[in-house]
Amino acid sequence: LQVKPSNFLRAIIERDLEAGTNAGRHFAGTPGDAAHQAAGPIDPAKIRTRFPPEPNGYLHVGHAKSICLNFGLARDYGGVCHLRFDDTNPEKEEQEYVDAIKEMVAWLGWSWDANDTSHLFYASNYFDFMYRAAEYLISAGLAYVDEQTPEEMRANRGDFTTPGTDSPFRARTPEENLLRFREMRDGQHADGSMVLRAKIDMASPNINLRDPALYRIRRATHHNTGDRWCIYPMYTYAHPIEDALEQITHSICTLEFEDQRPFYDWLLESLADGGLLARPLPKQYEFGRLNLSYVVTSKRKLRQLVDEGHVNGWDDPRMPTLVGMRRRGYTPESIVAMVDSSGTTKANAWLDYSVLDGYLRADLEGKAARASAVLEPLKLKLTNWAELFGSDGHREPCSAPAHPHLPELGTRQFSLGPEVWIEREDFMEVPVKGYHRLYPGNKARLKYGYVIECTGCQKDAEGQITAVLATVVPDTKSGTPGADAVKVKGVITWVGAHEAVAAEVRLYDRLFTEAQPDAGGRDFLEVLNPASLKVVSAYLEPSLAEVAADTRLQFERHGYFVADRVDHRPGKPVFNKITGLRDSFGK
Ligand code: ATP
Ligand code: MG
Ligand code: MG
Repeated sequence: LQVKPSNFLRAIIERDLEAGTNAGRHFAGTPGDAAHQAAGPIDPAKIRTRFPPEPNGYLHVGHAKSICLNFGLARDYGGVCHLRFDDTNPEKEEQEYVDAIKEMVAWLGWSWDANDTSHLFYASNYFDFMYRAAEYLISAGLAYVDEQTPEEMRANRGDFTTPGTDSPFRARTPEENLLRFREMRDGQHADGSMVLRAKIDMASPNINLRDPALYRIRRATHHNTGDRWCIYPMYTYAHPIEDALEQITHSICTLEFEDQRPFYDWLLESLADGGLLARPLPKQYEFGRLNLSYVVTSKRKLRQLVDEGHVNGWDDPRMPTLVGMRRRGYTPESIVAMVDSSGTTKANAWLDYSVLDGYLRADLEGKAARASAVLEPLKLKLTNWAELFGSDGHREPCSAPAHPHLPELGTRQFSLGPEVWIEREDFMEVPVKGYHRLYPGNKARLKYGYVIECTGCQKDAEGQITAVLATVVPDTKSGTPGADAVKVKGVITWVGAHEAVAAEVRLYDRLFTEAQPDAGGRDFLEVLNPASLKVVSAYLEPSLAEVAADTRLQFERHGYFVADRVDHRPGKPVFNKITGLRDSFGK
């Protein structure tokens, strides 16, 4: 059993469950409302949370925090978590994003199936209720139609040092306001010509309470409601109502909404006073955002990276989007583990990518099959091959376990011939101190094969090394009696030239050169890492010729790699490097 560390949210939930704070919850709206039907019967013993993405982009690693927090709390306390598309803004929202968000929530291991413990909702299904609620606020003298220009409104809002100034339209009667609001709804006024505002307090020290806008006119086709509406609710108005209609008990959001909480409460209390909502009402709680070092996690900035071609799409493996991280090869288990480890506090947190890499290694170490790969190939010629084995056509069969601790994964078969590919860094004409690999006169072992003795190298006209020369030391084959008689310190990874599988391998580095690319208002594009992607032509052992896309492997000594889910084809392999075998951070 895994014991989760407590945090301030868990303490609040446990207190509420003990006090029975949610007892007596029921729906007070009009029967037949979509929300009424969707939310279903309320079990007062349970909590209800929600993950409310706006479908205007792809989810990023910060959203994973919110997903795991909300779904996780519901699971741990026997409650329910709603997946709610906060789709009240007609302009930027698309079905493509709705589908991608559902896919990623499921990929992380959470479910919103109606038969399960969670549910799927669309905020746009509540437009009718939101409209009725607005008419109620108007009739109660709590909202008015303001015809000031946006500039006038901004100027009259005041700032932290100056109170705001009342709009000349603030004193209109409820009858006049209702008439105007209905005209807005019926399309009789131009986009942007007027807004509905809450009537609260233009002198409030909290600027969010200085008569915030509730509705605006916008002629735009909505992905769900089409052209039915030309007025749309503002986010700050819509969100509390969505929570209340779905009987959310704990509405958990990020810190930047802290100043909105008084309006959240004002609105819900006002609607409850009018009998449109039932008490107890949802309560908002804020926690610190999760940020990952060397990336940006803002949909707007991620979109800019995509639109301006700095990366190859939302699912570029360098992107901190969940689709990008999946394509890079990170497992959902590693992402969930990282997010859970990040803690839930009142402070924004910066996590280093090395934390994620640590969880990835911990996840894959015990399950990913091993394979040989040469990423920077240099030819090695075994010059006594024919002499020793009768002909250059001879092949020595070799084998290795697919995984050192999982015999059930079987063995890998490959063979040695007179020419093999080795890593360029495994030969030095003049060795540095402590170098145990190949240099003239030194012996090393071809892993799973023979001990060889380096005799020299070949060069081209420019002096570039084109091949390494060596001889096989007889009777030293791995796994045969006496193989260890000749002691060597260096072990060389290799792939037989006669059977090597050519592959494209993509090596990734950080997307930005600064840990906090957008800190202090810096233009994050200025610190893009120009070397964040390096593509190499590698050689792989023959067993990888037909491997399926998305297969994760450990290339011995190099790290963890995944067959790219988009570009990889059996017969034409493309691999992405997920991460190295140990933390090379800062080295
Ligand atoms: P962005 O600022 O990247 O556009 P957002 O907050 O506008 O993100 P939404 O789709 O509204 O995006 O987010 C859905 C939920 O995810 C919200 O409850 C939001 O608070 C939460 N969330 C977004 N980013 C983070 C983050 N970095 N850490 C934790 N939670 C986050
Ligand atoms: Mg948002
Ligand atoms: Mg945001």
